[in-house]
Order: sequence, then structure tokens, then C-alpha cells
Amino acid sequence: MGEGNGPLWKRLLSHSITTSGDLARFFGIDSPELRDVVARYPMRINPYYLSLIKTKGDPIYRQCIPDRQEVVSQKGLEDPLNEERDSPVLGLTHRYPDRVLFLVSSTCAVYCRFCNRKRKVGRPSMVTRESITEGLLYIRGHREIRDVLLSGGDPLLLENRELSYILTEIRSMSHVEIIRIGTRVPCTLPQRITPQLVEILRKFQPLYILTHFNHPREVTPDAALACGRLADAGIPLGCQTVLLKGVNDDPMIIKKLMHKLLSIRGRPYYLFQSDLAKATSHFWTPLDKGLQIMAKLLGHTSGLCVPHFAVDLPGGGGKVPLLPEYIKGVDEGGLVIKNYLGEEYRYPLYDGVELDKSRHKKGEKLWSE
Ligand SMILES: *Cc1c(COP(=O)(O)O)cnc(C)c1O
Ligand code: SF4
Repeated sequence: MGEGNGPLWKRLLSHSITTSGDLARFFGIDSPELRDVVARYPMRINPYYLSLIKTKGDPIYRQCIPDRQEVVSQKGLEDPLNEERDSPVLGLTHRYPDRVLFLVSSTCAVYCRFCNRKRKVGRPSMVTRESITEGLLYIRGHREIRDVLLSGGDPLLLENRELSYILTEIRSMSHVEIIRIGTRVPCTLPQRITPQLVEILRKFQPLYILTHFNHPREVTPDAALACGRLADAGIPLGCQTVLLKGVNDDPMIIKKLMHKLLSIRGRPYYLFQSDLAKATSHFWTPLDKGLQIMAKLLGHTSGLCVPHFAVDLPGGGGKVPLLPEYIKGVDEGGLVIKNYLGEEYRYPLYDGVELDKSRHKKGEKLWSE
């Protein structure tokens, strides 16, 4: 890859494997179903991310190599979060009062097999010049929007000039307080985080980067360099992780990942229950798996390493955080609370900390509203 012009990240992208023929050549896998998968859902694995695969079926492989289950299983929903219902203009979702999700790119450095937008990514019609213009107009006209989350696809696969244009437009709207960029590039193509890109991003602060790592093996020296550049520019880095069967559905793996993220200055933000998107059912985990993992993190390691475990409700209900239950009930000694080791303690209900009797007299749950 020494030859050719242009930045390294573009050369890496242009050498991605993208076809079922490539799968046969590199991994010796081929079948009519697999070819059908690649025809329906785009495949792209750039040489950097490909190089992280050590063995067939390992956690990196599973995230990026097509699986026949994608067409065999009929389980799942086309638009699991009803993003389209809450879209006043194509590519912009306004679900919560003060913030919007704005899709500004249709391509990614790797097409993740578990992606909840896999019906859209990699298709040029997902984001157009018009949809970006209309999205910007919508944000300009809605002064209640104080937080804009750019997503896609991957916004950092835009050209510097395009990204700069969008950020300049948004920064010119006085009601927008913060800009967030959701990107998997620090994990899947860290070479994209060039000094030039960082120089552009730092002009638009407060700007937060929300990146996306799913396995400790993704935290490489290249990823550390990319995240370090962003952090050195004063750009806070949050990390989102999706819980995936056969990839990271294990408390020890998640704990190690969270520790490694902090070591590259990324603060764990969300751990998501997998969305029920069509063609992803082979990655789904039982809902209580996430709760078990949370119980193994909370108290066992520092609060900085603990993400919010959240489920994005099918049908467009939004993200809801789930926590293991620590309150066991109430007795003469007070509130019965379990600690991280499972030991029970009493929190005495003295005057000033007693429960609101009017709310709890019927014996409903203590925390219900
Ligand atoms: C996830 C999401 C956001 C951002 O949610 P936060 O909890 O603020 O990170 C905003 N809008 C939509 C539609 C989302 O799905
Ligand atoms: S980078 Fe994000 S948007 Fe792109 S395929 Fe992966 S999960 Fe989907």
C-alpha cells in the first residue's frame, strides 16, 4: 500500500474487501445464501480492520464477515426504532424535546453485520445533498434543539470540506449548544483521525465524539493514537458498545473493554441491548445478560468504567436505562439494600429520610411514580 496518492485512510478504504468472491478467496467460504447476503446488505472490510482478525469466527470476524443467518432468519423488524415516524425530514429524527439525530453520511469504514440501520447504510439514497440542506433548515427553525447528534453511516467518512461545511452551518445557529459526532472510525479506521481532521474539529467546540468499540482487541495502538489526538485537542470522547452474542456477551470481556477504553481516554457512555433489526438476530442476547454484566461492573470497578445499560424500545419509545435491583424492600430496620457483593444492609428511615408514605402505603414498589 506504499504506492498511490492521497491520505493513507483513503488508500486503505479503496483496498477494502467487498464481494462474495473476496470471501471465498480470503476465508474459503461460499454458498448461494452468502452471496444473497452480500447482494442484500453491503459488505466492506478495510485492510486495517481485516488485519485484526486472528482466526475464523473470532469476535472481530463475527462483527464484519457476512453470515448466512442474515437471510435465513426471518426474525426482526425493518425499522426497529421507528426512526422514520419521528422524522420531520428525511434523515433527521426528532424524538426527544431538546436534541436531534441527524444522518449526514451513508457510508462506513466497515459495514458491521449487527448494524441497526443495515437496511439503509451503503445506499446513496440514504443521505443526499437535499436531505442535508433540509435537515439544516429544520434545525435552524427549531430553537428548542440544543444538541445535534451527527450520525449515519459515519460522519467522519465525509470529506473534510463537507464536514466543515455542516459543522459551520450548525455552529452558526445560536440555540445549538453542543454538537456530537457518532463515529466508529476511531475503532474501524483510526488512520482517518489525521492532524488535519483534528484541526477542523477543534474549531467547533463544544464538540463531543461518541465512538463505538465492542471488543478489547479493537483497542490497538492505532486506535490509541487516534483517540489520543482527539483528546489532546480537548475533544471529550464517549464510547458506545453494543452487546453482541459471541462477541462480547461476557462480563469479563466487557470489563476489560471498559478498562481499555479509559486507558485511551474514552469514557464509557452506553452499553446497548441489541436492537431487534432484521438480519441481525444471530447477535441478540437475553435481556438479563446485560443486567448480569452490569452487576459485575457496578462496585467491582470504578464508576468511570460503568456505562449506562440501555434498551432502545421497539416502536420508537426511546432509550431506557436498566439497572440491577439493589432495593430489596423495607423492614423495621429501614430500607433493605443489597450491596455489590450481594450483602444486605439497612438504611434507617430517620426523620428527614423517611419514605413518602402517601405514595407507598399500598405497598407498591418504592421507586414507582
Ligand atoms: C440515541 C438518540 C439520541 C441521543 O440520545 P442521548 O441519550 O442523548 O445520547 C437522540 N435522538 C435519537 C432519535 C436517538 O436515537
Ligand atoms: S459503523 Fe455504525 S452505522 Fe456503520 S455499519 Fe457499523 S454500526 Fe452501522
